[in-house]
Amino acid sequence: MSEDFYDILGVSRDASEEEIEQAYRQKATEYHPDVSDEPDAEEKFKKIKKAKEVLTDEEKRQAYDRMGHDQFEQAEKRGGFEDGRGGGAGGPFGGAGGAGGPFGGAGGGGGMGGIGDIFEEFFGGGGGRGSRAGKDLRTRMEITLQEAYEGTTKEFTAARPERCGECGGRGYPRGTDVRTCPQCNGRGQVRQVQQTPLGRVQQTTTCPDCEGEGEIPEESCAVCDGSGITREEATLTVDVPAGIEDGQTLRMDGEGAPGERGAPDGDLLIDVEIADSDRYERDGADLHVTEPISFPQAVFGDTVRVDTLGGTVELDVPAGTQSGETFRLRGKGMPKLRGRRDGDLFVQVRVVTPENLNDEQKEALQAFAEAGGEEVDVSEGFFEKLNDFF
Ligand SMILES: [Zn+2]
Ligand SMILES: [Zn+2]
Repeated sequence: MSEDFYDILGVSRDASEEEIEQAYRQKATEYHPDVSDEPDAEEKFKKIKKAKEVLTDEEKRQAYDRMGHDQFEQAEKRGGFEDGRGGGAGGPFGGAGGAGGPFGGAGGGGGMGGIGDIFEEFFGGGGGRGSRAGKDLRTRMEITLQEAYEGTTKEFTAARPERCGECGGRGYPRGTDVRTCPQCNGRGQVRQVQQTPLGRVQQTTTCPDCEGEGEIPEESCAVCDGSGITREEATLTVDVPAGIEDGQTLRMDGEGAPGERGAPDGDLLIDVEIADSDRYERDGADLHVTEPISFPQAVFGDTVRVDTLGGTVELDVPAGTQSGETFRLRGKGMPKLRGRRDGDLFVQVRVVTPENLNDEQKEALQAFAEAGGEEVDVSEGFFEKLNDFF
């Protein structure tokens, strides 16, 4: 998959916002980790989501078109575009963005360090905590193979940060007196003037003292200590799709850490582990199982009942079957995600050598051996020879 956001969504560079949204919905359905069984689906899904976020935001898209993919990514890594307030400063830097290329990128040669600094600060490096989106959280869950076969709904608890219920995430109690921030005089932003190789540049950043609020409360919330966030045990329910494989990840939108000041909440990622089964070996959507049959069944053939995850089925074992032969039961393996055909169940039969025979059975087997011209001394080594026979 190309890194370019337009390529990722498969749209032209002059695509309308509507076209981008539409392309996103289509791609997202294809690669959503809940439904895709490709091993890097989560990674791809993230890229698709990212591409859509950037290209449907007018300011970000302009910056992306101007800077190109690599410059944009670098700039964003330095602190991100999350702080919407920073966007206002975009205009004046239009030229500087274009100039990035010839200088070997931000943070290039030491002599041109000034360029790197501009990017760094412009893109929110000095913006304080701002209104950051919540972090994605990660947890793991173990299910049985039977649950993976049927699909299941799992309730689980996870300790996670949540918006403080006492103060609603503001960090100070309702009704607390607030005073105007002296640092920014209530604007929530501070201006800095910098001398750069491109001339004097004025930039606006989020006020570090009030974190952009413009006000400072007289009192902090006692429950969250002013952070607006508390740690809670959350009870959640997740749908696990039938056919899920060991190591796949489910995503619960918006169940991660809370975003700051109205920014979106993060997602909760659940790594699914499937416990080893005593009976089945799994290979993708296919299952392998060993089934014992008797010597007469192998010789004469028989219809054998085989337990599968979907219930008992019948398997026709033909006459003259050798121990270790494998039969395929089509569609009796794991259900396949994304509507492909179900896996198969491979049944390897093992002929069981009898250990405790009654006299009649012994005589019958001896007669069987003799009829084949074989000399068998029942008193010693008969069963070793019988084993060799198989
Ligand atoms: Zn302030
Ligand atoms: Zn609080």
